[in-house]
Formats: sequence, structure tokens, C-alpha cells
Amino acid sequence: MAQHRIIGTRQESFGEPRVHSHVVIVATEKVAGYSKQWTITQVYNAMDQGDTFFTHGEKSQQDAAVEKYRCPLCDEKTLRSAATAVTDNNLDSLPACR
Ligand SMILES: [Zn+2]
Repeated sequence: MAQHRIIGTRQESFGEPRVHSHVVIVATEKVAGYSKQWTITQVYNAMDQGDTFFTHGEKSQQDAAVEKYRCPLCDEKTLRSAATAVTDNNLDSLPACR
């Protein structure tokens, strides 16, 4: 089991049922010299193995759990911050990764 700190996300736009975006890729911080980008499927598989994903706010110094989330608009699998997240550790406020 491992803990992965998410430091960036990539969101994509979806057209149905109306235009919106949700997270499709997350980037985790460097572990042993490399950083990694994960698809949602890879994150789900890792979670199923017991791995956990979280974000850390530099200002608040608080961690927030990231959890599986089905987009309520298009029903695609995505991720969101747990309800305890504060502004600077919310998944939606992380920088975009390429
Ligand atoms: Zn969606």
C-alpha cells in the first residue's frame, strides 16, 4: 500500500448532457526521482489495491483525501476531494498538468 500526493490534474471538457469538465489525469509528486501521471482507471486500480491519494495545501498545511466520484452529469468515473478539503488542498484548485 502506498500514499500518493496529487500535485496537479488535467481536466477535459465533455459535451453531454451539457458542456462541463472533470478530472481525467492526475499527477503525483516525485517519488524516488520521478513523477507520474495517472489515468482515472489507474487510480481506481491502485485504490482497489489499498493505495490512497491525497492533496496537501501549502498554506493550510492540511491534507485532504481524494476519493472515487462518478460525474453526476455524464456518469463517467472521475475523482474529487473529500468534503473535509479546504480551498488550497481541493483537487479543483491544483495546477493543470501536461
Ligand atoms: Zn462529466
